[in-house]
Parts: sequence; C-alpha cells; structure tokens
Amino acid sequence: MKILKRILKIVFALIGLLVLIAIITLWIDSSKTNYLDINKNESSSNNSYLIKNVNVIPMSQDTILVDKMVYIKEGIIIKIADTIRVNGVQIFDGENKYLTPGLIDMHVHVWDKYELGLYLSNGVTAVRNLWGMPMHLRIKEDVKEENIFSPSFFTTGPKLTGAEFIGDDNLNLTDPIEAKNKVIEYKERGYDFIKTYYGLDKEIFEAVIEQAKISEMDIVAHPSQKVPFSYHLNSQIKSIEHAEEIVQQPLQFDLDPNKLQPIIDSISQSHHTSYCPTITVFNNIYQMMMDDDILDSESLEYMNPLIKMDDSKRQFERWFNAKQNDPKTVDRIKNQHDFHLTIVKKLHEAGVPIICGTDAGIGVTLPGFSIHKELAFYKEAGFSNYEVLKTATVNASKTHAKMNQLGTIEEGKIANLLLIDENPLVDLSSLKNPSYVFVNGRKLNRKTLDSFNEKAYNRKNLIATSLKYLENLIVEK
Ligand SMILES: [Zn+2]
Repeated sequence: MKILKRILKIVFALIGLLVLIAIITLWIDSSKTNYLDINKNESSSNNSYLIKNVNVIPMSQDTILVDKMVYIKEGIIIKIADTIRVNGVQIFDGENKYLTPGLIDMHVHVWDKYELGLYLSNGVTAVRNLWGMPMHLRIKEDVKEENIFSPSFFTTGPKLTGAEFIGDDNLNLTDPIEAKNKVIEYKERGYDFIKTYYGLDKEIFEAVIEQAKISEMDIVAHPSQKVPFSYHLNSQIKSIEHAEEIVQQPLQFDLDPNKLQPIIDSISQSHHTSYCPTITVFNNIYQMMMDDDILDSESLEYMNPLIKMDDSKRQFERWFNAKQNDPKTVDRIKNQHDFHLTIVKKLHEAGVPIICGTDAGIGVTLPGFSIHKELAFYKEAGFSNYEVLKTATVNASKTHAKMNQLGTIEEGKIANLLLIDENPLVDLSSLKNPSYVFVNGRKLNRKTLDSFNEKAYNRKNLIATSLKYLENLIVEK
C-alpha cells in the first residue's frame, strides 16, 4: 500500500508539473502577442476622427466621391460630406488618397493571434473563421471587449460531420437529436454560424437545418457528399464553399461547361445562396507541384509553426507523390483550376453573389497575403475591378445579418477602412499595401502594420498552438 501511495503521489506531481508548464507556456505566448493590445491610454486607441481631403469609394454603388470629409465617432461612420464641422476631434489629412471599406476574407482558419496582425497588415479588417475552437471564442471576446487590434472576428462552431471517421478533428454525429443539441450548444457558447461538412446524411443534415432555423443560426456549407448537391440550396444555408465541390460532386470530375450550366442555373434560382469559391487554396496544389522547395520558401514562415510542420508538409508530400506516380497529375490540377475560373465566371454572370474566401491558414495558403491572389483570380475570370472589390466588401457583408454593418462606407457603418495611395478601381494591386488601416475607427499606420508582419514571421509558438489544439480535442469531442 505504501508503494502504491508513493506511485500515486509521483503521478499527481508529474501531472501538476505538466499543467504548470502548459500554463506558463500559454502565458508566455499571450505576453508575446501583447503588441496587438489596445492600450486605452495611448493615442492609437483613439477611435474618433475627422478625415479630410479623401476620395471615398463607398462600394454601395460604382462611384467615387471626390474630395470628401468623413467623420468617425467612436468607431462608427457618422457623416460623409464636402465639409463637416465638429469640435474637439482629431483631424486626419487623407492627402487626396482613396478610402475603401476594409477587405473581408470569408473563409479562413485562424491558429493564433499573430495571424490577426497579418490580416490587418494586408487590409483584411474582417474574417469568417470556418473551423471553430474554444480559442476562437476567446479571440471573439477580446475583440468585443476592444482589448486587441484585430479584424472583426466571426467564427462557425466546430465542423459537423457524419458517422464516418475522417480525422480526429471532426465531430462524428450519429443521430439527429445529437445534431440538434450541437446547434443549440454552439449558439449558447457564442459561435456565430454552423458549419456543415463531409458525410452528413439526409436525416442528420435535415435535423441541423431544422434546428438552425429555430435557433436563428446561419449555416455555412462545405457540401456533404451523402446528400444531393441541391440540398445545399436550402434558405438556411447562406454560403456554399469551394468551387471544386461543384467539380467533385455534381460533375464527378467531368469538366464539361454544358453539364455545368444547369448546376449554375439551380444555384442562381435559389436567390439566397452566396458562393465562396476559394480558388487560391486549390491553385496552391498546383503551386506546390511546381515548386519542390516550397516548404523552405521564406513566405511560408508566415504560417503557424504547427500547421507548417504538419499540414503544409503533409499536403506537399501528398501532391509530390501524386506527381511522381503520375506526371499527368500536374496538368490535371491546372485544368481543374482553369475550370474553377469558368465556374466563378458563370456563377457571377448568373447573378450569384461571389464572396471572397481563400482558405488561408491551411496547407501553404498564407493568412492575409492570399486575399490579393484570390481577388486577382476573380479579375482573371472576367470581373471588372469594381465587381472584384465587391466580393470582399459588400457581397460578403450582405451574406449574414451579423455582418451587415461592414462592407461599405456609409453612415452608420463600422469604420473598418483602408487608405490607399492609388485608386484600386484602376489597379487592384494597390490594395496590397494600404498606408493606413482603420479598424473600428482606430488607425494603424504602415510602420505598425509592417511590424505585425515581422512579429508573425519570427514567431515560435509551436507548443502553445499544440496546447490550444489539444484543448479543442478535449472540449469539443
Ligand atoms: Zn477551409
């Protein structure tokens, strides 16, 4: 008995030590990202401005309001006019530059706070995170309490999947009651939307939709292959993810524009479905196959270290092996990418709102930087610059009621804004380096934004990220 007692003591001591180490690691991690903290006593925390001498691109219509003044009070756009007189507010000279709404990335996977800085630096002032974990609820809380500089942060709950096991990261729902309870629980815990994913069969899928309607939770759907594609045109589903899902499911990899047309027509006839094509993440498969050294590239330092070590490597090896086994894979992927552009073009022509999403944060798809690639692909698909910009502003904000206060420069909207040197309606690439980013009316200059990039580039938070992922596995299972 004495020995047993001693063993137990040692076990408890070891567990205690591990917990202590975990707490210290997370504490160090959080102190290293305090460069994003809003210090309420500093001038950078000011969120009331009168911007003068600025050309406003409101995105509520295809126009430029030349040489305006914009009054922002406590993070809200109060007035846009030729002249505005207000006392006691800081005046900021827009130097005849261009003011646009901040960009919205509608499909991201956030792994740490460093990425929030990367998004801001790239002009992304709102993100929709599509794989919710407890850490994201804490980020939401920090954003809501105005503790940190961050894009407006929206997140789905964990991915709802069917009974089939497809990885340790997914829920395996086996009955409709369980599915309904998950929807209720996610709403209560503060997740914004429901994400449906692979393998949901008809019964569970319908249960999720029914409960989401009752709970007033919008659904974001990565199509389930267990139900017909047309199931995803339900009015509770506000956006369908990935152009490649159209290729995989209804088209069964047959890249035939004639077979595509009726699918496009059915989506456009639903009148409520936005499509989030995530062209970049698929194109990155091609990029991986074209560059055998991509894992050592400098830009990949912007990925979270856990993802870089695990997911980026795994994806690279998968496609490297596929290429070795069958050299035609490279052409096949390139052809499919080109077909995705056709899908986007046809969806757009049919009046389906395209919403810009990148799938940043997984594989080799970089947070923040990727949005400019995604926008360039829409341009390549035949959109005008104004239509391209709509995908990441007004189209995105109209998708969910929760996002309606974003996406345009109008009175009453949240002051998430970019100040751009050149007119982005002439050259979209000018969006890459905004000289100022306003987030909830708070102004960040280029120097500060560049320092956010540098911090993310140099981060060493492998263990901290692993602990948060472990927490997710424990809490959400
Ligand atoms: Zn995704």
